[in-house]
Amino acid sequence: MYIAMIASECAPAAKVGGLGDVVHGLSQELSLRGHTVEVILPKYDCMRYDRILGMTKAHGDLWVPYHNQWYHCDVYFGQVEGLKSFFIETHSPQKFFDRRAFYGERDDLERFAFFSRAALEFLLRSQRHPDIIHCHDWQTGLVPVLLYEMYGRLGMTHPRVCYTLHNVGHQGHGGESILRQVGLNPGSLMTPDRLLDDTHGRAVNLMKGGIVFSNFVTTVSPRYADEIKHTHLGKGLQRILNVHQRKLGGVLNGLDYNMYNPEMDGHIPARYGIGNLAEKHRNKEALRSRVWLRHDFKPIVAYIGRLDYQKGVELILHAIPYCLGNGCQFVLLGSSLDSAISGAFWGLKNQYNDHPDCHLELGYDEDLAHLIYAGADMILVPSVYEPCGLTQMIGLKYGTVPVVRHTGGLADTVFDAEHAPKPYSERNGYVFNDYNAPGLESALRRAIGLWFHYPQYFRELMVNGMRYDYSWNHPGQDYLNIYQHIKAP
Ligand code: ADP
Repeated sequence: MYIAMIASECAPAAKVGGLGDVVHGLSQELSLRGHTVEVILPKYDCMRYDRILGMTKAHGDLWVPYHNQWYHCDVYFGQVEGLKSFFIETHSPQKFFDRRAFYGERDDLERFAFFSRAALEFLLRSQRHPDIIHCHDWQTGLVPVLLYEMYGRLGMTHPRVCYTLHNVGHQGHGGESILRQVGLNPGSLMTPDRLLDDTHGRAVNLMKGGIVFSNFVTTVSPRYADEIKHTHLGKGLQRILNVHQRKLGGVLNGLDYNMYNPEMDGHIPARYGIGNLAEKHRNKEALRSRVWLRHDFKPIVAYIGRLDYQKGVELILHAIPYCLGNGCQFVLLGSSLDSAISGAFWGLKNQYNDHPDCHLELGYDEDLAHLIYAGADMILVPSVYEPCGLTQMIGLKYGTVPVVRHTGGLADTVFDAEHAPKPYSERNGYVFNDYNAPGLESALRRAIGLWFHYPQYFRELMVNGMRYDYSWNHPGQDYLNIYQHIKAP
């Protein structure tokens, strides 16, 4: 099959969070199985250009209609760890992708609406006819709408669209004028069964457009698929998801074990696996040296991720003094676009500046993330909601025991050491239900207690986790089945 992935991220060249990992990992898996995959991304000025091989201009003459004008684009080709990737460079007066940031701009809606149109214009002009266009999240929600309403009439009748919801917390709301800017007719599209948002007055909802107009919709774990249909976690999309439930499925994300594998991870000083687990300790010592923690007989509890309301900021803030007060060290690596949250963590960082058992690293650091996964004993994921979550799966692979809240993909991947309805050998972490301090403490207390008092059992839990196969092997096949199901005859 010929698959075009249209997305706003692809690791490691353009990554903010899990979306980048997933676009990369799934594309890699499909390529390894012999399918042709091409990734189409915006050419951001802030990309990791050092991770793109052989970048060359592939098309110098792409003109994209936008807002009664034509914007000139150049399309570059390069390989991102072997993946064929196209980068659309936009010479618009607004300099859409020269902002030194991936997201968080006032005109994000315009930036990605334009990109969606440009990606289809590129496919049309370069006479590419993929069997499947796979697009992701609100940023590319307009792709199936444009394909159905406009590009089909221009001859692109072959591609079918699979649309993946990585997080319905961000849906791409805005004024209906955005539709006119990309050449669509708001008159016919701004209806309750199409792009009119169900809860924000007259707003357009790009994610809703993606859901309505694609041939198949997936989300990133079976439990999250259920939660967004039946609970407030659908954030206003519940009705439309139920209308389209026959084309909706939950496919658990995979992990790229070439990128996250302690047996061959080039970012860490000591490589290890189940057979030589004692080596993990060398990474713990290296982590302590790197972040100036004292070398002592204590477990390290870690948090890695965006510092966002979704991730359970209040509980992270609560966990730090709790862990320090209960004999642990704490390492945090995260960043935030929200100034209030960022301010709170900078305040805390100053407070703990000279603490021998605590380190907060506020920023994005791929290298340090790997060292933390390898060196920590436990990884905390106390999310309010979590579509899939990769950090707990990475933790499992690195023998770093996850302590998570029972929601979304966390509930699908972590099974409580004491209470899970599974054999002991399949239990792999600690889980709590209630989103509050007692809930969090109930899980942390048990995890910390096991580390101090029953090290042998703690080690078993680590090994159980390392045995899980959360690679792209199974989800890769699931996606191929979906593509096969919707593909044109
Ligand atoms: P989300 O997609 O909601 O941000 P996920 O758990 O699905 O969360 O994916 C997070 C990914 O981003 C993981 O690969 C994690 O290691 C990485 N990550 C998040 N924050 C940072 C950071 N500050 N530095 C390095 N890597 C990070």
